[in-house]
Amino acid sequence: MDDFYKRFGLRRLINARGPATVLGSSRVNEKIRKDISDMLGLSVEMWELQRKASEAIVKLTGAQAGCVVGCSAAGMAIATAAAITEGNMGWVKALPTVLGPKKKIVIQKGHVIGVGDTSISQMVGITGAEMVEAGEALDCSRFYLESALTPDVAAAIYILGEHFSHNLLTLETFIRICKSKNVPVIVDAAYETDFRHLHQKGADLVVHSGQKWLGGATAGIIAGKKELVHACYMNDMGIGRPMKVGKEGVIGVISAIESWLERDGEQIASKQAQLASKFRERIAKLPGLSCTDRKSRFSPSIQLALSVDKDIAGIEAWEIVSDFAKGNPVIRMHEGEVSQGTMVFDLSYMQDGDETIIADRIEKMIEDRRNNPVGFLEKPDQLTRMDRLYETHRKWLDVNPRGE
Ligand SMILES: *Cc1c(COP(=O)(O)O)cnc(C)c1O
Repeated sequence: MDDFYKRFGLRRLINARGPATVLGSSRVNEKIRKDISDMLGLSVEMWELQRKASEAIVKLTGAQAGCVVGCSAAGMAIATAAAITEGNMGWVKALPTVLGPKKKIVIQKGHVIGVGDTSISQMVGITGAEMVEAGEALDCSRFYLESALTPDVAAAIYILGEHFSHNLLTLETFIRICKSKNVPVIVDAAYETDFRHLHQKGADLVVHSGQKWLGGATAGIIAGKKELVHACYMNDMGIGRPMKVGKEGVIGVISAIESWLERDGEQIASKQAQLASKFRERIAKLPGLSCTDRKSRFSPSIQLALSVDKDIAGIEAWEIVSDFAKGNPVIRMHEGEVSQGTMVFDLSYMQDGDETIIADRIEKMIEDRRNNPVGFLEKPDQLTRMDRLYETHRKWLDVNPRGE
């Protein structure tokens, strides 16, 4: 592994964040890698490979059919295209000009978020559909949705995520209202770990990720009603073309589904519990650091939240994160709460020994600061998540944009 990083001049990455697309998504296991590698050396009829993928997706999700697309964001665009074209080939070929009578896609305003690092508005917009936002940022009542579902609405989109207002409509209510108006529901479930419940609840099309928890190569899955999945596949000859998936992505999904269905959840959990306990013990020895367990529906793994009491540690969490980004190995974790002094480590891809590297690095920072007291460093101007990403993209060819 070290040789590989060295050969290509890359820093090793300790991934304590899970299958984030910006960190190369999942760590693909050996069996799946072998299948992908074999497929790359062979030729295949793509429709036949996709039909086999559909069979695997049906097994995983319980949906009527499924297809593989380039990624989850692409899945949302293609599912939208399927809804507004209804599989009519002339209409498919005309996008982003919408020839059909149903041009609108409804979403709760509070669900207008990034799907990855592009907004859902942009993914809907590239198809030519018109997005209608129902309700307010923090509130969507039944009457808002009911009045938005006019006869020219092709579908309604529901996003599954962790940080939404509790005053938006639940999935169950959302589906019930849409069904009463005969409007299909498209669900973005790219970070979800339960692949079946959305289909049972009556979602018409669900976008799952092939590359995140499932553990395949870069790919998205669209699963749902057969007719709509058909309409999705038709868009391969339209706006789906520049978002296409290759044979490596499709076989990756098939092989990843096999692995997922055979995986030994208990063994994975017990291995993680051991690592978590070593991590906790090591952190407990550091002054000013405390550690609590987190469980998220959007990770099958243990997450540890490390909080830094700056008055005892002598440093702040943002300084640690910024130091982690400069070093080799580079260390990445969930950074959403860093300004409140907390770093969240997801154990999915952490390996034995990584916990020592992480704790040693923090310990060294604390000691260095004690030996060289400079007081707290001035916090740089607040950079939002998107600001940080923007800075990275702006500077990537010239410097380490995260560690100048
Ligand atoms: C990651 C994610 C996406 C985008 O996934 P990609 O495969 O990177 O396009 C979309 N929606 C949600 C909820 C996600 O978590």
